[in-house]
Amino acid sequence: GRAGKSLFEAQRVGRGKIVSHGGYYASPTAVRDGLANGEFFLWFQPVIELTGGRAVGAEALVRWQHPTRGLVSPTEFIPLCEASGSIQVLGRWIVRESIAAAENWRRLRSPEGRPLSVSINASARELASDGYGAYVLAECAAAGFPPDLVRIEVTETEFGTDAGAVRDNIRLLRGAGVLISMDDFGTGHSSLARLTEIDLDVIKIDQSFVGVIDADTESPVAELAIKLAAALGLDVIAEGVETETQARWLRDRGCAFAQGYLYSRPIPAGEFLARFVETRSTA
Ligand code: C2E
Ligand code: MG
Ligand code: MG
Ligand code: MG
Repeated sequence: GRAGKSLFEAQRVGRGKIVSHGGYYASPTAVRDGLANGEFFLWFQPVIELTGGRAVGAEALVRWQHPTRGLVSPTEFIPLCEASGSIQVLGRWIVRESIAAAENWRRLRSPEGRPLSVSINASARELASDGYGAYVLAECAAAGFPPDLVRIEVTETEFGTDAGAVRDNIRLLRGAGVLISMDDFGTGHSSLARLTEIDLDVIKIDQSFVGVIDADTESPVAELAIKLAAALGLDVIAEGVETETQARWLRDRGCAFAQGYLYSRPIPAGEFLARFVETRSTA
């Protein structure tokens, strides 16, 4: 049953939303055509170490340049792709392209630099499909990319579905060194007890709990999330950091990593390489 009370109250948008109408443009045929026409692309947002300010990786975020609708946000089309089943074909393309970009950074990176991870968002339906974990590992093998530099982002609600396939995929991935991140932490419905049961490596504090922080406003939820992560032995990343005040507040409370417009908006793979990857010396 629906065990566990909501840990925190917040508006949930994006993945997992049920959409029952108007989604024809994201049908499997349309998405296949869009992929063939090169309408989809990935942007990457750096994950920054709060002490030192260097990038430790990037999150892949998908975009759709639609011929008649213009640039469509993933918060709009991903739920439609979930509802129509086209997320399966799109998700596999996202996995392949994300790993290809990360392998390129790895190849060009200076050997002294820190290895850069790539974070890939998985939607509920992908994670619950047989063979998802095997596919991610096969793509790593094909690209020669180390699985321990891959992070799969899953929302609380997706973890909540206790389907056998979800568990199997997560076990297979973690067994190969892939890290599992809980995205949008605080906006779902996991109980504290459940958090200690699931196979998890990273907590990402939802941007709604970061955006409230300013010179005279604390964020009790962000503070609790940082403490919880430490107690459970998990890494913690703050999402949506937009000001130095927020960054300092988080750093002072022991949050190690952040993403947000303060450091960079999502950018093309080549721009991430130019701005955030220490490349091999050409001298
Ligand atoms: P998310 O995974 O929680 O990604 C974070 C979102 O916050 C991204 O929006 C990012 O551009 C935005 N963001 C980052 N820093 C800031 C900031 O400082 N301020 C503000 N206001 N926003 C910030 P985006 O790219 O529109 O993606 C929205 C959601 O769509 C994602 O939330 C994720 O749930 C979903 N999504 C995006 N790409 C994919 C994908 O490849 N696969 C799947 N399944 N879902 C995806
Ligand atoms: Mg994410
Ligand atoms: Mg998030
Ligand atoms: Mg989000």
